[in-house]
Amino acid sequence: MASSEINNNSRKPENNEDISSYIQYLERKIKNLKNEIDTLKPELSNLEYEENRLKTEVERFEEIPLMTANIIDVLDDKNDRTIVNCPPNASYVVKVSRKLQNVRLSPGLRVALNQRNFTVMEILPNEIDPFVKGMEIIDTPFDVSYDDIGGLNDQIQEVREIIELPLMKPELFKKIGIDPPKGALFYGFPGTGKTLLAKAVAHETNATFIKVVGTELVHKFIGEGAQYVREIFKLAKKKAPTILFIDELDAIGSIRMDDATSGDREVNRTLMQLLSELDGFDERGNIKFIAATNRIDILDPALLRPGRFDRIVEFPLPDDKARESIFRIHMRNLHIENEINLKALVELTKDTNGSDIKGICTEAGMYAIRRNSEVISNEDFLDAIDKTMMIKSRDQGPLSLFI
Ligand code: ATP
Repeated sequence: MASSEINNNSRKPENNEDISSYIQYLERKIKNLKNEIDTLKPELSNLEYEENRLKTEVERFEEIPLMTANIIDVLDDKNDRTIVNCPPNASYVVKVSRKLQNVRLSPGLRVALNQRNFTVMEILPNEIDPFVKGMEIIDTPFDVSYDDIGGLNDQIQEVREIIELPLMKPELFKKIGIDPPKGALFYGFPGTGKTLLAKAVAHETNATFIKVVGTELVHKFIGEGAQYVREIFKLAKKKAPTILFIDELDAIGSIRMDDATSGDREVNRTLMQLLSELDGFDERGNIKFIAATNRIDILDPALLRPGRFDRIVEFPLPDDKARESIFRIHMRNLHIENEINLKALVELTKDTNGSDIKGICTEAGMYAIRRNSEVISNEDFLDAIDKTMMIKSRDQGPLSLFI
């Protein structure tokens, strides 16, 4: 090695002076390399940490979902074997995982089974309780009506026809002899008022508003997503008249793949259940279904087939006129000085959504408080717009979600 270094230096050391300067050169090199090692060590440990994190993530993705079952009988005291009943209705004698050795098993318990060898792996909570799964239920939303929605006049008109009219005047449809519409699909940019309009129609029709988020329907255990969908529709029936709002439909309703993983297949089961509930919707009369998505482009065509949703309603970003009316709505309760240049605010907020405008109004209020003022000034609004636009351009705004 040394000789090759010497060769690289293009001449051989010929005397003591040469050798000592070569040693110095090597010492410097060693020192540099040591420094490099010192700087690389933390980087290496960061990369090792990241590698482990990704490995665990991959393992998590590869995990085969467990199956749910109910214990019918426990065969011996050692907790070794038990009889379980699996959906739809098959009974098996199965082994119990060693990690459950100290758990008292009893008939009726809901358990999770390994799909390959049917070993009991986990004890599950006994019933799926929809209330703990992030469902939002409002008896009748009082805080929002059509007057609280800026722009969206065509969307409100559509919703009045397909949701409000059949709920309020079902006899009209009977007389004419047509089936009343069952529901609509709202799609478009985030923060453009999809949830707001669904709540407003529940308010206008005195209906219960039930909101479920699609990601909540994606379950770890086989059959649970589908069962959860059944429970939601049962609850909607019980609470009728109901507006059942499923947000982020794409979480369960995206295009089905042939070589799907078992996790995807579970999502498909949930989707199939949802489709079958939608198809059996006719008799339900006073339940109306609204689904929403920001990603209509990836929805399964089965969901978009005629007859599933009576209308597919687009929610675009608000134009100048709509933004002005959204500003007016969110300024209603604000203490604002007289010289607000609303036209300029509207001009400065192109490409924002309703949610941004609401945020700008709140932020302007915060600027006023910071100034120790009790009135919000035009300057406060301008500062709030600057801040919002900066954050949006950093996050690339709502458009990025459509890519
Ligand atoms: P996401 O797709 O992210 O769920 P969304 O379209 O359902 O969004 P909303 O939850 O309805 O958006 O909007 C969030 C908030 O933004 C509303 O509660 C409301 O305060 C405000 N907002 C949005 N659009 C409008 C609008 N057209 N008029 C008045 N306020 C609006």
